[in-house]
Amino acid sequence: MSPDAARLTIGLALVPLCLGLTLFTVVTLEFLDIGGNTDWRFLIALEVVTLTALLTWLLAWRGRVRWTRPRIWMTALLAGVALVAPIAGLPYPASSHLQTLGDMTILLGLSIWMIGTALVWRDNKSAARSAGPISQDELQSAIRCPTCDYPLIGLRQVVCPECGWTATVDEVVRRAIDQITETQGV
Ligand SMILES: [Zn+2]
Repeated sequence: MSPDAARLTIGLALVPLCLGLTLFTVVTLEFLDIGGNTDWRFLIALEVVTLTALLTWLLAWRGRVRWTRPRIWMTALLAGVALVAPIAGLPYPASSHLQTLGDMTILLGLSIWMIGTALVWRDNKSAARSAGPISQDELQSAIRCPTCDYPLIGLRQVVCPECGWTATVDEVVRRAIDQITETQGV
């Protein structure tokens, strides 16, 4: 199984986990006599479940996301929406069908979180390669001597004319690719 398949499996497992953890938390709160009446216990349980789901999803994918400031802000915003959503499930005494809908707001919040993070965290391929083919300037700035920064363009041997640094051709290619993908990284 690839690491991403494992991450998706963990995401899928959050669905039954949410149900089980809600029940478990409500029963535990009742047993310990915490949280006052049943409605409050239910809300506390939903917040515990939401927080668990958010953290699990975040920890699973954190290493696969190229974190930028806008991405961090959007992620925080989505987490806020998911955490506020269960509060809309507070009791509506006057109308029972509104109550039924209210109980489901946690699902709405979590789906907004998962879809939202997928869109926010996704790498924008067209933005990353908007320059099209690699330009001569990009090559010139990427293929440089690592010790003295002299451009190693047009040479027939991998020996820096400036300082004498030498390497294999594949080493130079690897360095150039690393350099170009780094500068184009979103
Ligand atoms: Zn050099």
